[in-house]
Amino acid sequence: MPSKKGEDLEYKVFRMIKDRGDKGILQSQLWKRINATSREGSRISLRLERAGLIERRRELHEGKWTYRLIAKKRSVNPLSILDLPCAFCPNQDKCGLGGPVSPATCPLLAQWVEKTAYETVRRGKVKVSLDEKLEA
Ligand code: SF4
Repeated sequence: MPSKKGEDLEYKVFRMIKDRGDKGILQSQLWKRINATSREGSRISLRLERAGLIERRRELHEGKWTYRLIAKKRSVNPLSILDLPCAFCPNQDKCGLGGPVSPATCPLLAQWVEKTAYETVRRGKVKVSLDEKLEA
C-alpha cells in the first residue's frame, strides 16, 4: 500500500493523465514531467490501472515500445449521495469546522461515510480491505 506521499503522487499523476483527455500521454513523457524513474512510474501506472482509473495502451514510439496512459471515463452516480445526511439536516446553517456543530464530529456523517465505504468495498469497486483502512 502506498504512503500518503505516494498516494498524493498517484493522484497528481492521475490528474495529469485525465487532463490530457482522450489522447492521453506517453508514460515516458509523464515520468519526465514528475521527475520519476521508469521503475517508479511503472509502479504508479500499474496501480492506477488495477484501480480501474486508467487504461495502458501499448504503442511503438520512436522505435521503442511504451505505453500510452488514458484516463477511463467514469460517470458519477447521483444516487450515491442521495442519502447524505447533510442534504436535509436542520443544523446545516450552524455546521462548520470549529463551529458548535461540525462535520469533524458529526455522528450522522461519520455513520454515512462508514456505510458508503463499506458498500463500495462490498461491491468490489475498491480492492482494499476496509479493516486495513480503519487500522491505518
Ligand atoms: S455534518 Fe452533520 S450536522 Fe453538519 S450538516 Fe451534515 S449531518 Fe448536519
